Amino acid sequence: MVKSYKSLRDIISDHDKYERRASNLESSNEYLREELVKWKKKAKYDDLTGLLRRETFNGILKRFITRSNRTNTPLAYVLVDIDHFKKINDNYGHDKGDEVLREVSDILKASVRDTDIATRKFVGRYGGEEIAVVLPNTTNEGAKVVGERIRKKVEDHFKSKNLAVTISAGISNYSPKSSEDESNVVDVLYKTADEKLYDAKKTGRNKVIS
Ligand code: GH3
Ligand code: MG
Ligand code: MG
Repeated sequence: MVKSYKSLRDIISDHDKYERRASNLESSNEYLREELVKWKKKAKYDDLTGLLRRETFNGILKRFITRSNRTNTPLAYVLVDIDHFKKINDNYGHDKGDEVLREVSDILKASVRDTDIATRKFVGRYGGEEIAVVLPNTTNEGAKVVGERIRKKVEDHFKSKNLAVTISAGISNYSPKSSEDESNVVDVLYKTADEKLYDAKKTGRNKVIS
């Protein structure tokens, strides 16, 4: 039997072919890595405001509740809602409404400290124009100060642009090792803050109630 050997030209050609293949795979790999980061980010953060999505926000909140119990520190929850937001859309259009929502979100982000677990600010878009903020290691008194600071900042920011945009907020609190079942805490914090927010709306808006 005659054994056939590859010519030098064939060997070089194979080498080039495999190098090209490897290089193509490397590019695809890099592309997939970038896509993975992009979609993970989109799943975590709201497209319009860049705030944490509600599901992400609640997941992080559970971890903070566990930490609050471990370190025996309180936690405060602030639920913010833009006043008469429907009118802003009706009077100035939906794009302007989106812009206002982004600006309010930025003010909220700038008003709270970074947290280690939330990777960024612990501020989440809870509904259309409802934003929740968690303040770890903060008492009710501390949360009232932060809430009022946010309310004033929003009012002043839009006043300077000749726009009457204000927010109302409701505050709820968590005390470590309270009798509340830990799995219910996320819901209870939201519901209690929502009741306070409703009181703020009922009694004139542009106010913070705890
Ligand atoms: P209140 O002071 O009682 O909160 O009144 P409101 O008008 O803010 O409340 P309502 O719940 O009646 O209206 C909320 C509006 O928010 C209605 C909806 O069209 C608008 N909205 C929700 N999400 C978005 C958004 O992403 N962009 C814009 N532009 N508007 C939004
Ligand atoms: Mg509203
Ligand atoms: Mg609302």
